[in-house]
Amino acid sequence: MTTRYLIRFDDVVPAMAWSRFAAFEKIAADLSLPFLIGVVPECRDPKLSVEPERHDFWDWVRVRKHAGWTIAQHGYQHLYETDARGLLGIGRKSEFAGLAYNAQAQKLAAGKEIMQREGVWSGVFMAPSHSFDEFTVQALRDLEFTALTDGFGFYPYELHGLKAVPQLVARPLGFGFGVETICLHVNTMSDEAIGRMIDFIRAHRKQIISFDEALQVKATVPFIASALRHMTSAALRARRAVRA
Ligand SMILES: [Zn+2]
Repeated sequence: MTTRYLIRFDDVVPAMAWSRFAAFEKIAADLSLPFLIGVVPECRDPKLSVEPERHDFWDWVRVRKHAGWTIAQHGYQHLYETDARGLLGIGRKSEFAGLAYNAQAQKLAAGKEIMQREGVWSGVFMAPSHSFDEFTVQALRDLEFTALTDGFGFYPYELHGLKAVPQLVARPLGFGFGVETICLHVNTMSDEAIGRMIDFIRAHRKQIISFDEALQVKATVPFIASALRHMTSAALRARRAVRA
C-alpha cells in the first residue's frame, strides 16, 4: 500500500504569479506530470492579480489540457458574496453557498460557457474557498458537471450524484494509503515552500496521479473509506473552530 498524490493548483488566472509557477511548469514538463488546475473563467478578484497579465492565457490552458492536465472550473468570477460555510463547514466566505438555486446556476452556467468557448471545460468543479451547498451541487449536476475536488477522507466518494476526490491538506501527510490532494496557491508560496514541494514531487514522481486516476482509487475495505471521511471531517472542523 502506498499513498497516491494529486497535485492541485488553485487560482489559475491571467495575472497570477507566473514567475512562482515556473518551477512547477518545468518539473511537470520534465517528468510528464498531470497536474489539476483550477481556472477562474472570468476573474474579477483583484487579490488574484499579482503579476503582469498573460495575453495568451487560454492558449496556455489549452496546451496544458492537451498535455493531460485536468482543468477544473474554479467558480465563476471568484467574487465572494456570502459568508456561508457551505456543506463542508470549513470556508468563511463563498461565491455560491447561501445563494438561491437560480443565482448559483446562472453563475455556474456563465462560467461553463466561457470554459467551453475556450475549449477547456471538463465537467470538474473546484469551489472557491471550499464553500458550496446543496444548491451548488444540484446546479452542477443540472449543468452536467460530473466531479469535484474537495471534501474529507482519503478515497473518492459520491456527493449527491457527483464524484468527488477529497482535498484536505496543503502539505503531504503520507499515511501510506488512499489519495491525498495537495492544494497549492503559488501566489502566496515562499521560495522555501516552492523548493520543498519541487523536491517532494521529484522524490515521489511514481506516486503522483491525475485527477481521473484519483477517481479510480479504491479502499481495500469499503467501510474504511467512509470511516476515514467522518474522522477527518470531525478533526478538521474542530481545528478550524478553534482557530476561528
Ligand atoms: Zn480560489
